[in-house]
This record gives sequence, structure tokens and C-alpha cells, in this order.
Amino acid sequence: MKPDDQDIQWVQEPELGLTGKAYLPLLTDGMTTTLRHLFGRKLTVQSPEERHVPPDPLIYRGVHRLNRDEQGRVKCVACFLCATACPAHCIDIVGAESPWPDREKYPESFTIDELRCIFCGMCEEACPVDAIELTSLYDLSGKSREEMIFDKEKLLSVYDATKDAEPMRSARVGPPSAGAPAPRSSRPPSEESP
Ligand code: SF4
Ligand code: SF4
Repeated sequence: MKPDDQDIQWVQEPELGLTGKAYLPLLTDGMTTTLRHLFGRKLTVQSPEERHVPPDPLIYRGVHRLNRDEQGRVKCVACFLCATACPAHCIDIVGAESPWPDREKYPESFTIDELRCIFCGMCEEACPVDAIELTSLYDLSGKSREEMIFDKEKLLSVYDATKDAEPMRSARVGPPSAGAPAPRSSRPPSEESP
């Protein structure tokens, strides 16, 4: 394209007056913004003395938990959908034959690397039985990388600690209508709850 092309629209730099050259309008704008935030509603808290309370804990995407069913057993049926959906590849599941008659499989081992997780919530969305959920707990810390790999027991303990304040999604919006594995009746039930 040539400089004399008819399609080109040349924009003239505006002529600045004395106040413009002294940056006075910009200074005024900046100070107005500062004062508005100084006297407006505070969004920050003095952590760790004060805790931030998420506006809606039920949709917050913090630390994961593995939910339990009505009998206290891990709800997960080891379908691997969450691990498949996870973009950070931080969920590792070892499935095994279920000791209970109402499902085919259960997770013998279930780990989430919380340091690799990007807290996108895809695992929660993918789960057909509401077994994995993200809670409103956000202050994760550990003394080693290994400590931040949450195993099944730790994930279940997060459920135990948060279930009263944050009910399961299925308790809030009703049980999932499809995707849950079909009941199985050929095996004897076990009392054990992993
Ligand atoms: S929140 Fe996202 S990144 Fe984290 S485990 Fe779930 S799917 Fe993976
Ligand atoms: S999607 Fe749900 S049921 Fe399937 S493996 Fe993950 S947590 Fe378990």
C-alpha cells in the first residue's frame, strides 16, 4: 500500500495545550481513581489474620474433595472421565473390581497433584456421579511437593470437613439422570468402606 492510497485515513496528533503538556488531565484522572478506591468498598483482606470468604462458596473452585455415598463409601466408580477431561493431567486413578454389589469398579487408588492443577473444574463437570467436587478451601500449603499430591484418604477427609457447609451438588440440584453405572446384584456386599 502506497502512502497516497485513497483508502488510508491519516490521523493527526491532537495539539496539546499547556495543561495537556503538564499531564494535568491524566493526573486528575489518576487521583480520582485512587480516591474512589480509597473510600470505596474494600476488596482486600488482611490475610492471614482475616479470611477471604468467597461470595458463593458452592461455585468456588478450590481444593478438591472425593464425595461419599449414603453408606459412607467413596462415591467414585473409577470411570476415568475426570482424568480424561483434565487438561493438566494431574489425576491418577487405579481402578479395581468393586467389593460392593451396586457398582462394577471403584478406585483402589486416586490421587490429584494439586500443584499441577489449574482449578478449571473440568473434572467436576465430567463426573457422572458427583464423586469429585471442588470446594471453597483455597489456602493450600505443604512442606514438600509430595504433600501436595492428595491421595484418596486425604480427598475423602476434605469431604468430611466440608460436607456440612458445602452440600454435594446432587443434593442441591438433584441426582444426575444419566451416566451412572447400572446396579449389579451378583456379588455379596462388603461392610468395608475404603
Ligand atoms: S480442576 Fe482442572 S486441572 Fe484440576 S484436576 Fe480438575 S480438571 Fe484437572
Ligand atoms: S469422573 Fe467421577 S466417578 Fe469417574 S473416575 Fe472421576 S471421580 Fe470417579
